[in-house]
Amino acid sequence: MSDFLTPDSALETRAIHAGQGFDPATGAVNPPVHFSSTFVQDGIGGFRGGYEYARGGNPTRDHLQELLASLEGGEVAYSFASGLAAEDALLRAVLKPGDHVVMGNDVYGGTHRLVNRVFVPWGAHLDTVEMGDLDAVRAAVKAGQTRVLWVETPSNPLMKVTDIEGLAAIGREAGAIVVVDNTFASPYLQQPLSLGADVVVHSTTKYLGGHSDLLGGAVILKDRELAEKVGFIQFGVGAVSSPFDAWLTMRGIKTLPVRMDRHSSNAQTLAERLVGHAKIDRVYYPGLPEHPGHDIAAKQMRSFGGMISLALSGGGAAARTLAESTGLFQLAESLGGVESLIGYPTEMTHASVKGTALEVPENIVRLSVGLENIDDLAADLLGALDRI
Ligand SMILES: *Cc1c(COP(=O)(O)O)cnc(C)c1O
Repeated sequence: MSDFLTPDSALETRAIHAGQGFDPATGAVNPPVHFSSTFVQDGIGGFRGGYEYARGGNPTRDHLQELLASLEGGEVAYSFASGLAAEDALLRAVLKPGDHVVMGNDVYGGTHRLVNRVFVPWGAHLDTVEMGDLDAVRAAVKAGQTRVLWVETPSNPLMKVTDIEGLAAIGREAGAIVVVDNTFASPYLQQPLSLGADVVVHSTTKYLGGHSDLLGGAVILKDRELAEKVGFIQFGVGAVSSPFDAWLTMRGIKTLPVRMDRHSSNAQTLAERLVGHAKIDRVYYPGLPEHPGHDIAAKQMRSFGGMISLALSGGGAAARTLAESTGLFQLAESLGGVESLIGYPTEMTHASVKGTALEVPENIVRLSVGLENIDDLAADLLGALDRI
């Protein structure tokens, strides 16, 4: 950590300085990117700064990990080659055959696929429930068997909101760890560890990187014993982030707070303008007072983020046409970049859960509201709605 940071430094300050002190050799305000797979030893086992071989540790990755731990208020963070690689490492560290996982019934399709198609055949058991309904979670928990409660809040794509404190209490009682996928909110908008969660995971590909130019993932933990297990998987399995991706992620994070403020305000304005539109049945955005999770989101989030989903009154055909008719909202997977994107979850992000209980309704489109001018964004979307 840089010398001038204090334990009280605010998140905006830590986003720019934590883990990123200037280079002591040259004074460069940006520490260099260490493109080195191996490190010279001063005699056998004489490591400089502890570095030996880059799968085990690379200074650039360490800088990012220190930054991520600071932003989420964790003890330790590990950075991976993708969000799913991070999730895989965590689950390998936590689960043994026979263990039970309870997940939200609209988690990211790839997360469900990872557990359902990789960990279930290996011996884990999986149930998906309405995570916002804590009674349903309590009913799904199996005493002595449930090891993981896994939640996304707001969720993807239906923006369901879960009370993290309430879920954490259930996890503590059941002896299960509570994992929050904080990709949609980012640590600027929501701090799950301070609300009692045990672990935060991220696809840093999204808001943390923020510019749609990298793939990455992270696991951030409070408990050092569990952290050591995840650290061993990172090293022993090896899905680490590259120095360049780690550096790009840090570069993105410096502007995370200002970006998130604008993502949230653009999305809030757009959601309000879309409510009541003749061609839209429902606008899913936690910042709308009528959203079922609004009060909880207002309690645990700084603002409501940049993701909106729309249910089209014209059904699946209308949703498809809309997704193919916008201009500024480009048709693409992913989210969280400076540019606005539109997606058709049924056949894009959530294609892998088609035919399961997690299937997304056919009339849903998902918007990742970017940082373009809000009037331009609204004109693009409203114009496309007129044409369907
Ligand atoms: C994208 C995404 C992931 C997976 O991350 P990758 O970086 O694509 O592997 C996990 N969770 C959420 C909420 C996501 O949006």
